[in-house]
Amino acid sequence: MEKNIDQIFKRLFGTSNHAIHHYHCPGRLNFIGEHLDYNGGSVMPFAIELGIDLYIRPNQEMKFRMFSSDFEKQIILPSDTEKIQYSKDNGWGNYPLGIIEILKQKGFSFDGYDFYFKSNLPTGAGLSSSAAIEVLTAFALLDLAAEKIDRTQIALWAKEAENNFIGVACGIMDQFAVAMGKNGHLICLNCETMDYSYVPVNLDGYSILILNTKTSRSLEHSYFNTRRAECEEAENELNKNGNSTRLAHADLKHLDIIPSENARKRAQHVISEQSRVIAMKDAISGDIDLVAGLINASHLSLKNDFEVTGEYLDRMQEIALRQDGCIASRMTGAGFAGCGLAIVENEKVSSFKNVFVEQYKDALGFDAEVYTCNPQNGVHKVGEI
Ligand code: ADP
Ligand code: MG
Repeated sequence: MEKNIDQIFKRLFGTSNHAIHHYHCPGRLNFIGEHLDYNGGSVMPFAIELGIDLYIRPNQEMKFRMFSSDFEKQIILPSDTEKIQYSKDNGWGNYPLGIIEILKQKGFSFDGYDFYFKSNLPTGAGLSSSAAIEVLTAFALLDLAAEKIDRTQIALWAKEAENNFIGVACGIMDQFAVAMGKNGHLICLNCETMDYSYVPVNLDGYSILILNTKTSRSLEHSYFNTRRAECEEAENELNKNGNSTRLAHADLKHLDIIPSENARKRAQHVISEQSRVIAMKDAISGDIDLVAGLINASHLSLKNDFEVTGEYLDRMQEIALRQDGCIASRMTGAGFAGCGLAIVENEKVSSFKNVFVEQYKDALGFDAEVYTCNPQNGVHKVGEI
């Protein structure tokens, strides 16, 4: 591998006396706490084994030269560009360039670097490849400049890049999880206050699997905005007496005062999901039956009350639960397509992978993929070549 990277650099960028620095940033999976980030609730993501590697070397050209093994387009930009602009033409390059522009706005400046990104993290699947490439770029550049910036700050700047440069109104969860992940632990993150704690995972004989349905998320955005509006409506109704309680912390007993049935159902999901997150904090350290119950209940709530599962993800859950050794499954992410998770007995993992993929293909025609995932450390330096 290392020899290979050396050759790739020679071919792409020429020879140099400088070392090639190797950094890694994982993707993330949200274990539980869906649609809570914008409702004042808590989420429980963790960094996964799939991720993006960055090999980076200073150059003498005062240029950022960027390649990605997954995309054809090559990016070249003078490193002293006054203001880096979003450009459709730059394609994937907008993600690393966006975070560089944000870092420049914070007062940092960088000389030329050659970048080579190599990834086994699916893009556009809801495993946060965008957050990973942003956090990875910022972490590497700041580390090479010997700037001591804490990871929470890097996550916040990466979110700023995604919000303001890319133009995606995401919350802080993705960038936080890939920056702050901890081996063997889930992160319990209050998205509003940024308070967080690490919760050790002990699934005693069971594994967490990611189910990538390989279905597209094209419908997501319109539903997403409607759901946000319905949650806001529910929160406003519940706060009519002058309170300012966020929806995730409201009381299920008061739901009757919400006139709209849809808003009532969305609130039912949000409030019950928040209580599942709290219950999971204890359960995940050893109560496998409760873990399974909470995961399955989360899917049902997203299906019946929040109504964002859809056929692709419901069939995914059904087919997973049908398999020997699978005790829980749910959709993850915003909904309708993308990835889910399953909890499967260790000895049954390999047969689960084969049969799930086969049956999903038969049922819906998509070539699903299944990945094993133990919680990993967040972004870090791997070494030098
Ligand atoms: P997700 O974050 O769910 O994977 P997004 O649509 O938010 O999906 O981000 C995906 C985009 O991020 C890709 O289309 C690409 O522009 C960029 N990206 C992700 N991974 C890489 C990579 N390894 N190399 C280059 N660009 C990448
Ligand atoms: Mg993304």
